[in-house]
Amino acid sequence: MTLSADFAQNLKMQADIVRVVGDYVSLKKSGAQNYSGLCPFHKEKTPSFSVHATKQFYYCFGCGEKGDVFKFIQKIENITFPEAVRAVAQKIGVALPKATFSSEAEAKDARRRTALLEIHERACGFFQECLRRPEGARARSEEHTSELQSRFDLVCRLLLEKKKNTPKEITLEKKNVRI
Ligand code: ZN
Repeated sequence: MTLSADFAQNLKMQADIVRVVGDYVSLKKSGAQNYSGLCPFHKEKTPSFSVHATKQFYYCFGCGEKGDVFKFIQKIENITFPEAVRAVAQKIGVALPKATFSSEAEAKDARRRTALLEIHERACGFFQECLRRPEGARARSEEHTSELQSRFDLVCRLLLEKKKNTPKEITLEKKNVRI
């Protein structure tokens, strides 16, 4: 999971903890910036759970549970911090950044895929360049030049299309690509 701290911070500023907590706890205004309700983390009959709208945190005077909007979601949904960030983003309709991965392995795969694509694209460019150089004159004069060119184009297109596929579909990785 590589959701950046910046993203979480921005999200926290956009998310209204009162609204988010309000989905789980019936809150009533108890002060200028305070809302209170029955604590969802311990059993009680009189409200000691407080949510501060400006400071964007919650605190329970009964059990001492406290934190921000992510901590609340983590605790009440019993999920990890990254999952809580996602959940809050979803609740308030904020799109997750594209470079978001659910695990380090997924992020590693994405980095490897990017590196592989770069290698392939560079190789493709190199061969096209060779064809245009004086050394490529013979190849260019051959009858099959157009066929050759179209093959290069086809390879390039296939490589670019691989961008949309999953890392598992990239089998060229196992071949030794030398530029
Ligand atoms: Zn409590």
